[in-house]
Amino acid sequence: MKVLVSVDMEGVSGIVHPAETSPDRYDYERGRALMTAEANAVIAGVLDAEPEAVVWVADAHGTFRNILPEDLDRRARLVRGRPRPLGMLAGLDEHTDAVLLVGYHARAGAGPAVLAHTMSDAILDVRVAGRSLGEIGLNVAMVGHLDVPVVLLSGDDTACAEFRELVPSAVTVAVKQTVGQAAAVAVHPEEARERLRLAAADAIARRASVPPVTMAGPLHVEVDLYGPYMVDLATLVPGVTRVGGGRTVAFHAVDVAEAYRLVQLLVQLASIKPA
Ligand SMILES: [Zn+2]
Repeated sequence: MKVLVSVDMEGVSGIVHPAETSPDRYDYERGRALMTAEANAVIAGVLDAEPEAVVWVADAHGTFRNILPEDLDRRARLVRGRPRPLGMLAGLDEHTDAVLLVGYHARAGAGPAVLAHTMSDAILDVRVAGRSLGEIGLNVAMVGHLDVPVVLLSGDDTACAEFRELVPSAVTVAVKQTVGQAAAVAVHPEEARERLRLAAADAIARRASVPPVTMAGPLHVEVDLYGPYMVDLATLVPGVTRVGGGRTVAFHAVDVAEAYRLVQLLVQLASIKPA
């Protein structure tokens, strides 16, 4: 059995502020340790349920180089660094039996929600076939495209609700109650890890009852960008067109996998400043 654990950072217990998630900020090292410990709790839970499972961990925040490799459970294999074709889901393939999303956050525009955004602050919204999808929705769709279920998500209560709308039968663990974009009532990290370990074991044990979420192609995708320079860059990509005179660009994708790759590219382009 193969399990992929994708670990983001904004939805980890105790984390509420960019100073705890950004490599150049003063509390980042504490954030990394909290993130690594939650990953370990989930790995332990997966292996409680399936001792023979092969567990892959995808570092899925920012640089994709946050988890402290030397502190990660040695029974897991870690995917670090970027760019990579499957982004936050690196390690996923058609032989994967279940995916768990840990430390995730709500989509851009959702709120109140701790550190809510979609890929970058440059992205105001992503709509796939008319439906607004954040990182939770895009990753659930990409996993479902390979006919694999997402069996667990952890994050704040708003992220958990966003996930349950997509996958009602899966397990959620709210490790903090949202107060605002940079404020929450947090469960103690040790308490959060105990809950995560039990929930991960539970989610793996009943994975057969969680259906993969599928979206049939072709798909019309719209992306709202923060600034006009970003729109200029995005429309250099063949097939990406400006919608009206505003900040929205659109493209057609043959399937979810193509949409997922192109959204990742637009996020990268949106980070480029005028030369
Ligand atoms: Zn993140």
